[in-house]
Amino acid sequence: MPVHYQPVKCKSFLHHFDKKFLPFSWGANPYRGCEHSCLYCFARYTHEYLGYNSGTEFDTKILVKANAAGVLEKELSSPRWKGDIVNLGSVCDPYQPAEKKFKITQQVLEVFAKHKNPLFVGTKSNLILRDIDLLSEMAKRTTLIIYFTITTLDENIRRKIEPRAASTEERLDAVKQLSDAGVTIGILFMPIFPYLTDDFENINGVVKAVSDAGAKDLVPGILDLRASCRNRVLSFIEDEFPELLPKYLALYRKAYAPKDYVGKIYRAVETARRKCGLKKFKMPVLREKQTKLEAWAQT
Ligand code: SF4
Repeated sequence: MPVHYQPVKCKSFLHHFDKKFLPFSWGANPYRGCEHSCLYCFARYTHEYLGYNSGTEFDTKILVKANAAGVLEKELSSPRWKGDIVNLGSVCDPYQPAEKKFKITQQVLEVFAKHKNPLFVGTKSNLILRDIDLLSEMAKRTTLIIYFTITTLDENIRRKIEPRAASTEERLDAVKQLSDAGVTIGILFMPIFPYLTDDFENINGVVKAVSDAGAKDLVPGILDLRASCRNRVLSFIEDEFPELLPKYLALYRKAYAPKDYVGKIYRAVETARRKCGLKKFKMPVLREKQTKLEAWAQT
């Protein structure tokens, strides 16, 4: 399906939100909509605010914030700006394919670097390696953490659930290269799909692979089926893994998997993490996750 890019002018680039369990309260998105087309994407509903649907239009109607760097420069230069951490890609991936063409993320990175503003960047793309020199320099001067999502080592499943994102191998290579360049890397091991990617082999394999690649932390998360995600994921399971549908329906009577299932998986991740000596960041979001994880690990 062809992708349509629509350049837009934003009035503000940084947006504020108040979620106490996160270590940041500012987010920024060079693009709206995301060509990576992940099956489980929870950001899809945000496209409805723009007058598009959360299905194929989220994947193919991409808004490009053409003036983002100029707007950001003004925001970071304002005497009211306190230099808080910003999460770049808080809704949509800043290194999705549009970035090759428009380079908005690169432009705003240069502004963040100029102001030495603390930054988190979340992505599933190895296009980020294009900016490795800039990121390496930023890492010497300010807090910079790149979060890669890695869900599975099984490329067949990865292709089905994240069809246009980089392969797991490409992401692991990017983790290694960025780590070697002095950039701190965290891993979002999520969503873990029940009965598809929750086996010990995948859990141990992912934790070991990211640890070997130089990641400094890993946060797990189990698939949840909120809003339109429920129908999308259940239709996918019905089409691709029909034998699992009854198990999914039993597990997801609500939007979230039950606590005993979540506890079992978190304990397995914790065991794998300890085996690899993968340490923990000391930040609120991770502390909260880790506290839960430790509590579950002890039950
Ligand atoms: S990369 Fe992130 S924003 Fe893009 S489709 Fe996947 S989950 Fe959604």
